[in-house]
Amino acid sequence: MSAHKIIIAIDGYSSCGKSTLARELAVKLGYNYIDSGAMYRAITLYFLRNSVDFDNPEAVSRALADINLSFVFNEHRQASDIYLNDEDAEPYIREMLVSEKVSQVAAIKAVRTFAVAQQQQMGTGKGIVMDGRDIGTTVFPAAELKLFMTAAPEVRVMRRFKELYATNHAITIEEIRHNLELRDYIDATREESPLRQATDAILLDNSNLSREEQLELVLELVKDRATNRLN
Ligand code: C5P
Repeated sequence: MSAHKIIIAIDGYSSCGKSTLARELAVKLGYNYIDSGAMYRAITLYFLRNSVDFDNPEAVSRALADINLSFVFNEHRQASDIYLNDEDAEPYIREMLVSEKVSQVAAIKAVRTFAVAQQQQMGTGKGIVMDGRDIGTTVFPAAELKLFMTAAPEVRVMRRFKELYATNHAITIEEIRHNLELRDYIDATREESPLRQATDAILLDNSNLSREEQLELVLELVKDRATNRLN
């Protein structure tokens, strides 16, 4: 029996702890972690800064032609920062202004085609953990391990609040609750690659799991999937 590199696809609702798990898995396994949501956020940031009309397909295509996205590993975060046309966009993409518009931008077909092609390219060598909304269904339908994460709504709201309050004391719990509900609704009901659990994904509700317990549980699954077996 020998372990080989696999693709791990992690999908789920907003603020379920997908990126925390994905980052920890990647560090443990020596895999590459890609936050696909950061790509949609960086595209949204570009659209907002350049006043691109989301409803105008030609304006969207022109804007996409001017966008170059790349990931650069940040030792301090132990994860990659997203670069938007050679600028580290990481400090700006989690701002509320971007969060308010990102699901609208991510529902545009041309935007998804643009992002998905790059995501698939990143997976050609395997050894990758990618989190998002359509990774197990559209980006890597043949991924060896697919997880669909969920957590109780109040747990998710409080997690996101703590995260954002650290840098923005003006943020309110109500604002966050509204944003999470709105994004989940748009993500789950859009026409292009809606958020849904792949039929072969494992459901992981982490409302009552510690980070350590969760990581241990998933590492066992990885071991199982990454081990060549005769059957
Ligand atoms: O993961 P995160 O919450 O940062 O993603 C921001 C938004 O990007 C999501 O609410 C969703 O609208 C979009 N997204 C997507 N498909 C992905 C990842 C993110 O549509 N694979």
